[in-house]
Amino acid sequence: METAGFAQTFWQYAYFLAAVTVVFSIKWLSSPATARRGVIAGEIGFALAIIGTLMRSEVHNYTSIVLAMLIGAAIGAPMALKMPMTAVPQFTALSHAFGALAAALVGTAEYYLEPGQPPTGFKMIALTIEVLLGFLTFTASIMAFAKLQDLIPTRPMTYKGQNFVNLGLLVLAAVMGIWMIAAPAPGWAYPLFILLSLTFGVLLILPIGGGDMPTVIALLNSYAGASACAMGFALENRMLIIAGATNAASGFILSVIMCKAMNRSFTNVLFGAFGQVLAADKTKQGGKPVRSATAEDAAMILANSQKVIIVPGYGMAVAQAQHKVRELTDQLVKRGVDVQFAIHPVAGRMPGHMNVLLAEADIPYDRLHEMEDINAEFSEADVALVIGANDVVNPAARHDKTSPIYGMPILDVDKAHTVMVIKRSMNPGFAGIENELYYNDKTLMLFGDAKSFVAEIVKEVAAQAPVPA
Ligand code: NAP
Repeated sequence: METAGFAQTFWQYAYFLAAVTVVFSIKWLSSPATARRGVIAGEIGFALAIIGTLMRSEVHNYTSIVLAMLIGAAIGAPMALKMPMTAVPQFTALSHAFGALAAALVGTAEYYLEPGQPPTGFKMIALTIEVLLGFLTFTASIMAFAKLQDLIPTRPMTYKGQNFVNLGLLVLAAVMGIWMIAAPAPGWAYPLFILLSLTFGVLLILPIGGGDMPTVIALLNSYAGASACAMGFALENRMLIIAGATNAASGFILSVIMCKAMNRSFTNVLFGAFGQVLAADKTKQGGKPVRSATAEDAAMILANSQKVIIVPGYGMAVAQAQHKVRELTDQLVKRGVDVQFAIHPVAGRMPGHMNVLLAEADIPYDRLHEMEDINAEFSEADVALVIGANDVVNPAARHDKTSPIYGMPILDVDKAHTVMVIKRSMNPGFAGIENELYYNDKTLMLFGDAKSFVAEIVKEVAAQAPVPA
């Protein structure tokens, strides 16, 4: 008898443990040293939430649930295993899209549960928010995925009166929602409400450039969380409220961090059509002389330095050069060089991108420093070695008021005695603008693919005369 009672209330214990585990998971995820533990705790937490839900007395049909889980796992697992690190933003978008769609479909099922008698009162309010956010996040996330995956043009697509049209559509959807809450609406109202929400999601993303998409994806993550939280209220499910609210808050905080690191506002990201201004800027300069050097020159300077600060960027991630960078670090450290890493908060294509890659290559965490902590050290460094980073080291951000990245905090690499930049060409980075650092007298351009160029430097450093004992 008692066992049966426990089985019936097991889900409550499971939910409680899941909530506690997820809070610990978030705490541990905040440091590279404990991040692995954080991931495992998060997985355990969500497994507990799922098991708890499956054991609730309302669940009767396990066949369809298991089938759906198997299909989901068969699609999701290979995608996760094959996905390159540089494609994390678009795959995150895809996962938000399906999470949001699931919430919106559950809301729709609830709406039609009792034919001709849709929910009323508080439940209907929660359900309307859930469905509006769910469907708009679904199409917006699919659009974000398509832009980042180059399936549709990444540049902002704008037209006159666009913000007015978008806002008008959102207001119309909201009015429809309020109507459905306030009074029994005719049969066509709900499908039209869905259509408006889906269309708003598409239109929301059109004017946003691929460059701003990682920030928008964090924001969409927040919308998907808010939709799930509203679903929790509609279904009276505490776990969904906790998980959804945590998701909504973390997505929002992440997008604020990204905006701050780029010195942009939300309005500028959402309505600024950033990539367009930049494309025009691309042709502004050129023809100025730059100093280039070989791997041998670079190795000689590095091997005879006392302090080297390495600045990784998106190019290091694309080239998968992190393991060669580790080899170079080991070689230089062996020669008594003090090697440190400077990590810009938006280097690469998502926050933490560089930390993950360098950790994967077993570069000790205590060599990695955040921008605020290491910027003052560049003036004491013999060499700042920039590997595939561009915008995050562009001094124009400090003084050129006409630059689209003006005001973005940058790594002060130009304060080092010598700057070396590994990249393949003079092409601009993500923001699409010229980098005046490359024309600085103390900058040496090392043209080539990051992985093979660093490998060459490693070979050349090894060939240098051993350090006198
Ligand atoms: P970046 O400005 O995009 O520049 C990357 C550089 O890497 C390019 O100039 C490219 O030059 C070089 N590169 C590409 N492939 C390479 C290869 N195989 N070998 C060597 N070099 C290669 O990168 P970043 O300095 O890391 O800046 C990140 C940008 O993303 C910022 O503008 C930031 O605002 C934006 N962003 C980041 C986030 C985030 O969360 N991290 C979010 C939103 C926006 P070549 O083509 O000449 O090789």
